Amino acid sequence: MLAGQVFLGEVYITGATNLPVGLSIEHQRLRLIDAHFFSSLYDALRRGEPVEFRPRIRQGMGIVYELFGIEVPEEKMRTYYERGLLEATGEISFPSCAVCGTVCLHVVLKCPECNSRNIEKRELMIHYDCGYTGGLEDFQTSSPGVYRCPKCGKEMKRVGIDYGRPGLGFTCMDCKAVFQVPLVEIECEKGHVNRIQQLDLRKYPVYRLSEDARRISEVLSVIEEIARRLEALGLDVAMFTRITGSSGVIYNVPLYVRGDPSIVIEITPERIADETYPILMTLKAADIPNSIMVIILPSSFKPELEKIFNPEKIRIIKVDDISSSASRIADEIARIIGAISYEEG
Ligand SMILES: [Zn+2]
Ligand SMILES: [Zn+2]
Ligand SMILES: [Zn+2]
Repeated sequence: MLAGQVFLGEVYITGATNLPVGLSIEHQRLRLIDAHFFSSLYDALRRGEPVEFRPRIRQGMGIVYELFGIEVPEEKMRTYYERGLLEATGEISFPSCAVCGTVCLHVVLKCPECNSRNIEKRELMIHYDCGYTGGLEDFQTSSPGVYRCPKCGKEMKRVGIDYGRPGLGFTCMDCKAVFQVPLVEIECEKGHVNRIQQLDLRKYPVYRLSEDARRISEVLSVIEEIARRLEALGLDVAMFTRITGSSGVIYNVPLYVRGDPSIVIEITPERIADETYPILMTLKAADIPNSIMVIILPSSFKPELEKIFNPEKIRIIKVDDISSSASRIADEIARIIGAISYEEG
């Protein structure tokens, strides 16, 4: 028997009510993300848009994904993946600190002579006679096009003969060194310094919505409506909950009414009600402890397939059009729950 709190999408087998306050706020937050996910999912699929979620770095947080306009930490996406709502389509590598593993890195440019970070980017100029190199502005005089070497004091007029302009470079404000390529180091948010070759790589998946998610989205509005109606009858209802079966398999349950026994409600749009469906549902119903399963089927569902369902564990509600039958379905479920409590009592 499953004792404990069932939050949207998460099952906590605690049986306790003394959850720390911080945890409840965290649950609240995750609940909001779930609500956002499921409602956006429905919208996005209805518009027929391809949906892909790519990892990216948020400084101070690590890897995040944009989930329909909000940023979600990588761990949260992984729970959707583990729940079968997302599937991975590829991976992206991110450089990470060799010391602490964070991907929150930034580039540091230093003077190769003295390691100072007090450097400036300059247009460089070189006086061929004495070999002095410096920033262009060090050579400028009051007459345009005429330059004077700050080291030897000679006037320089002809580019390519008196002086050269090798392009952009850097000068160190501390040791006055002039260089074209600075020392490049990668610093992490905790201050660990890595050379580029020392960095590790971490891979994160690119996700897209799974078939399971598409299936859920088709019936989402109906599920919400049925849940509202059952709650109005005083029943303890959870949507899109993950339940662990006796075998250890974790199931997505679209609608779950807590009780003794609990009621697992499956809603089956026409296109997924094939020959294998009754077998899968029979196994699922048998595996979820202390529960009765109610399956909502389209009226076109073949009666010969229906015989596979075990009547001890599974009750069937058939409707012509699932999307317009929320109120009838809720009434039928309430009637079944009433009958079960009567039998048990
Ligand atoms: Zn580090
Ligand atoms: Zn000179
Ligand atoms: Zn220097």
